[in-house]
Amino acid sequence: MQGSMMTRPLMISALIQHADQNHADTEIVSRLPVGGTHRYTYHDAHRRSRQLVRALLALGVKATDRIGTLAWNTHRHFEIYYAVSGMAAITHTINPRLFPEQISYIVNHADDRFIFFDVNFAALVEALVPHCPGVKGWVAMCAASEMPANAIPNLLCYEDIVAAQSDDYEWTEFDENTASSLCYTSGTTGNPKGVLYSHRSTVLHAYGSSLPDGLGCSARECILPVVPMFHVNAWGLPYAAPLNGAKLVMPGPHLDGASLHALFEEEGVTMSAGVPTIWLGLLQHMQSKGLKLSTVKRLVIGGSAAPPAMIKAFDEQYGITVLHAWGMTEMSPLGTVNTYKQKQLALSAAEKDAIRVKQGRAIFGVEMKIVGSNGETLPRDGKAFGDLMVRGPWITGGYFKNEGGDVLVDGWFPTGDVATIDPDGFMQITDRSKDVIKSGGEWISSIDLENIAVAHPAVAEAAVIGAPHPKWDERPLLVVVKKAGQDVTKEELIKFYDGKIAKWWTPDDVIFVDDLPHTATGKLSKLQLRERLRDYRFTGV
Ligand code: AMP
Repeated sequence: MQGSMMTRPLMISALIQHADQNHADTEIVSRLPVGGTHRYTYHDAHRRSRQLVRALLALGVKATDRIGTLAWNTHRHFEIYYAVSGMAAITHTINPRLFPEQISYIVNHADDRFIFFDVNFAALVEALVPHCPGVKGWVAMCAASEMPANAIPNLLCYEDIVAAQSDDYEWTEFDENTASSLCYTSGTTGNPKGVLYSHRSTVLHAYGSSLPDGLGCSARECILPVVPMFHVNAWGLPYAAPLNGAKLVMPGPHLDGASLHALFEEEGVTMSAGVPTIWLGLLQHMQSKGLKLSTVKRLVIGGSAAPPAMIKAFDEQYGITVLHAWGMTEMSPLGTVNTYKQKQLALSAAEKDAIRVKQGRAIFGVEMKIVGSNGETLPRDGKAFGDLMVRGPWITGGYFKNEGGDVLVDGWFPTGDVATIDPDGFMQITDRSKDVIKSGGEWISSIDLENIAVAHPAVAEAAVIGAPHPKWDERPLLVVVKKAGQDVTKEELIKFYDGKIAKWWTPDDVIFVDDLPHTATGKLSKLQLRERLRDYRFTGV
């Protein structure tokens, strides 16, 4: 027997409609790439998104067409999200930090029809044009007076095409499984692969991520996504914010500590989200200038492991709760968030510290398991570690155009992460499977070693890789960027590990460098670091 409830499709357009009806005067504030601040409301965003649908229809855009963006987080990018998916076309967010050859590969693979770009990417666009013959037109996301002078054929002005249309477009309803947006993984090996989200997966993810033990979004929050809209849809926040009626602050291109601090204070931001490198910049800025944050309550840190020293610094020096979160492009991205359970609230500070370095508990909708080398499920005892597998309604079942073939294993998506899960359901990543250090047949977690190194007061950033060793196969090599004006020796750093880990995990050597390589999404690039240190050999072995 079927239930008697309505089967209304889960539509992305319903989010902006809901925000307009219930939170019409709630603001969306944007720092613009051309300078200055733009301020309007959900009501205005809804109106302009519908004008933009009409503009897209006038350009001949049809359902399923891919519309690329090369853009920072702004109100215009937000409008594109809603207009494109709302007419059953697909928003393809492109990471402008990729190499131009990777970008043209992605544009051609996705078969983008139009590309919307921020004017500060005009030179990049000019270079891309000859390599992207399938693109019918390029839309500069600016006013007529700000149009770039670059030689870009079929160049259109965003404000002009929007202004030319009426706002009487009525959203249509269609199958909730229709594709809505496309995001390519950073592709550390091989070509980048596309993850194609649907209306259903996006709306369910927005619900799930908003939960109190998720990111805790609500109509009382002012949310600033530092994570770019080209990195897994800014972790879904441009959908979760209107679902809840939260104020939204879009930071544009300036993501340094000083710019973020000023914006947090000016707009009364209560929660924000980004990768650890961003928060390192903010912490350094605040510490060097003796600043505080007066309204921020929570920072979501994910994309890479949040070092315990960073979690502690925000908590103890600034009274800010860090929500350590884990996920991936293939998961929309949210998988786990670290929040305490009721029974853990009374634990000692040290016991709580041990919990909060973990990546957290699965939010409902995400199932997880860890498996051993023969695919056998390992115990959830917090000790056994194995390959982390996931499944759920916002987790991909394969890549765009079936790139990479069948990726699921018995219906589970292999994350490529190695993890433990404890009896309370807290998952802890020990490594990417390709970064784990294999020493004498045993595994050493590079993340654990990095977390300890960055807790040293003289260390700004640290990476640990496995370097070849004649006896042990691989041994840990610590690579460190020192804080400006601070000094520390190799011996002091090695001694710093005493008592914090099993003796045999201690790095065999330390190298000091001026900077560490990062990927286009701001993560440490172990691949490039291993490449840089290809000829490194331990001495005296
Ligand atoms: P991406 O698809 O580019 O967002 O990368 C996803 C990968 O980033 C995951 O598979 C993890 O290896 C890594 N990652 C994301 N969040 C965390 C975290 N909190 N701690 C450790 N690694 C993380």
